[in-house]
Amino acid sequence: MLRETVRALAEAKIAPHAAAVDEEARFPQEALDALTAADLHAVHVPEEYGGAGADALATVIVIEEVARVCASSSLIPAVNKLGSLPVILSGSEALKKKYLGPLAKGDGMFSYCLSEPDAGSDAAGMKTKALRDGDFWVLNGVKRWITNAGVSEYYTVMAVTDPTKRSKGISAFVVEKSDEGVSFGAPEKKLGIKGSPTREVYFDNVRIPADRMIGEEGTGFATAMKTLDHTRITIAAQALGIAQGALDYAKGYVQERKQFGKPIADFQGIQFMLADMAMKLEAARQLTYSAAAKSERLDGDLTFFGAAAKCFASDVAMEITTDAVQLLGGYGYTRDYPVERMMRDAKITQIYEGTNQVQRIVMARNLP
Ligand SMILES: Cc1cc2nc3c(=O)[nH]c(=O)nc-3n(C[C@H](O)[C@H](O)[C@H](O)COP(=O)(O)OP(=O)(O)OC[C@H]3O[C@@H](n4cnc5c(N)ncnc54)[C@H](O)[C@@H]3O)c2cc1C
Repeated sequence: MLRETVRALAEAKIAPHAAAVDEEARFPQEALDALTAADLHAVHVPEEYGGAGADALATVIVIEEVARVCASSSLIPAVNKLGSLPVILSGSEALKKKYLGPLAKGDGMFSYCLSEPDAGSDAAGMKTKALRDGDFWVLNGVKRWITNAGVSEYYTVMAVTDPTKRSKGISAFVVEKSDEGVSFGAPEKKLGIKGSPTREVYFDNVRIPADRMIGEEGTGFATAMKTLDHTRITIAAQALGIAQGALDYAKGYVQERKQFGKPIADFQGIQFMLADMAMKLEAARQLTYSAAAKSERLDGDLTFFGAAAKCFASDVAMEITTDAVQLLGGYGYTRDYPVERMMRDAKITQIYEGTNQVQRIVMARNLP
């Protein structure tokens, strides 16, 4: 029922703008409005804080169905989870009350600030600092590649509070867009997900009350990694949706397109490609749904499953979208058809929330 609801909304209110959002590299405001009106913009927020209380699998289904028509728009529910999960996992009751309510109501989105210009895969090498000053913390530094930066009201920011302790000297904070000293860089000019703004975030003597720290001092990096165990599953969901969109489009196209006097769908070479695409997509879906179940149950092998789902589903999405372009021939290579956008959008799922090389490192360290 949830899938049918989201699919109907996505097809009616998000899909019609997807090509223009990509072409004009503009924020998908129509998608945010439609998702917020239907209470689907941050479905993961627990009911006790005014949210829809969707479990991990339901959240995957929402993201998957939005990504099927517009990957950029799927980053609205996905990054709202990524940005706010540190608060849900480790925040004080007061922080949860203060920030999850507005997020659930649609009053402000959440972003997640871990990466820096010189600290990507090696995120613990970050330089952004927070210095204690009485009842305040003062933040200075630069975060890079921050999804929805400038649009979001709230930012979970990881910063070094004790430079002698590397990852154990990192703490997490909630910073608000309106805090003095917060500013944003120009939007990055990207290959895909062009409707999702990606900007640098600058912290210039940003003075925030000490109770904005998420969890204990020195636990920020652990919280950031624990968050990714859960949210890599949302990137897998995004990959599934993009791949499903491309497969659905290609499936229809091959029945219409005629060469050698018959629909190209009649050729076994085409049928085998479609069979492989559907088979790999279903395998990725089953792995992702298993990972989502583990995310709810907090199973001990969640870290492996989260990384495996993200890595496998994103590799599969890249393959399926590339094959979809192939099935459309020259037409697939143009912007007159949606599959080239889907192929460009799929690429990011192999890169963010840890590249697929990093996922393989994580899996190797956590073999089941
Ligand atoms: C569009 C977009 C949105 C993003 N959104 C966010 C966000 O909202 N919040 C956030 O914090 N970050 C975000 N990121 C950052 C993203 O997570 C990083 O780009 C990613 O982790 C890789 O870091 P890097 O770009 O510095 O690459 P690098 O770490 O420099 O990696 C370069 C290459 O080296 C490989 N590599 C690095 N170390 C190893 C190793 N040990 N073994 C094998 N290979 C290795 C990598 O896999 C990659 O292929 C986003 C990035 C993009 C592009």
